[in-house]
Amino acid sequence: MRIDLHTHSSVSDGTVTPTELVAQAKAVDLDVIALCDHDTFAGLDEASDAGTLYGVTVLPGIELSCKVRGTSIHMLGYGCHRDNHELQAELDKIQESRRLRIPLMAAQLSALGFPITAAEIEAQAGGVTIGRPHIADALVAKGYVADRREAFDRYLADDGPVYVERYETDLEHAIAIIHRAGGVAVIAHPWGRSSREVLPLDYLELLAKQCHLDGIEIFHTDHDEATRETLAAWAQQHDLVWTGSSDYHGAGKPDNPLGINVTDPAQYQAILALIATRGGTLPTR
Ligand code: AMP
Ligand code: FE
Ligand code: FE
Ligand code: ZN
Repeated sequence: MRIDLHTHSSVSDGTVTPTELVAQAKAVDLDVIALCDHDTFAGLDEASDAGTLYGVTVLPGIELSCKVRGTSIHMLGYGCHRDNHELQAELDKIQESRRLRIPLMAAQLSALGFPITAAEIEAQAGGVTIGRPHIADALVAKGYVADRREAFDRYLADDGPVYVERYETDLEHAIAIIHRAGGVAVIAHPWGRSSREVLPLDYLELLAKQCHLDGIEIFHTDHDEATRETLAAWAQQHDLVWTGSSDYHGAGKPDNPLGINVTDPAQYQAILALIATRGGTLPTR
């Protein structure tokens, strides 16, 4: 069984539709994918239908934008009920904040000498969730940068010259919300990019013991070999689930091809068992 538990579609900042994503998963011999678009469930029905068509199991997921002491952290939620009011209200709040910052960042870019409008950025977002990758795509379309990576490296990174903060859920609160929606909470790429400093092992331990965090993503392109070994030993010691995934974004992240990292089937089964215990939403096939 080949299982990739973290992928994105054009409903958020991936570049392929949910149907294309599932077709591509079939083509690289994946049996299971989780669609975890940023802050929305909007691609799940299409992905699930495509899963039936292509013979791929689609685990319903989401990647929730969270914050720990001012730093952005991503929390994966598997099997959440989409109609849960508390979770839905949180998503609405995040989505509104995402939309509000687009004109602010357009103004900052224009002031820096790269004239761009909010409408030009919005035209790059094909789905529900709008974010910096779409600003990057608009910068590419204007000929200001070559690709998303250059846009982030030069302007859009968290510590870059055009960054505007947005609302993100408190990480500990996010775990509780995911649980109350019947889901399983797994921290995405905990030691990727800038997040390592705010998630030391003693804080991860607190999240496990006091907030009942369910698992951590370990096999990810942002984690080097030493990081993987440390986190895997820690997860086993604390009886947490550990996962591997591509964090596929289509052409948006060329270093993350679909299926580049996969999840052990026993860990996947453990996630399904937790979802079942909480009365969450299991895959339809
Ligand atoms: P936002 O959702 O607006 O906070 O933007 C964060 C998203 O930007 C992440 O989910 C990544 O998919 C993407 N991202 C972050 N850094 C890079 C990068 N260097 N190159 C391409 N995409 C990136
Ligand atoms: Fe993304
Ligand atoms: Fe992420
Ligand atoms: Zn992701």
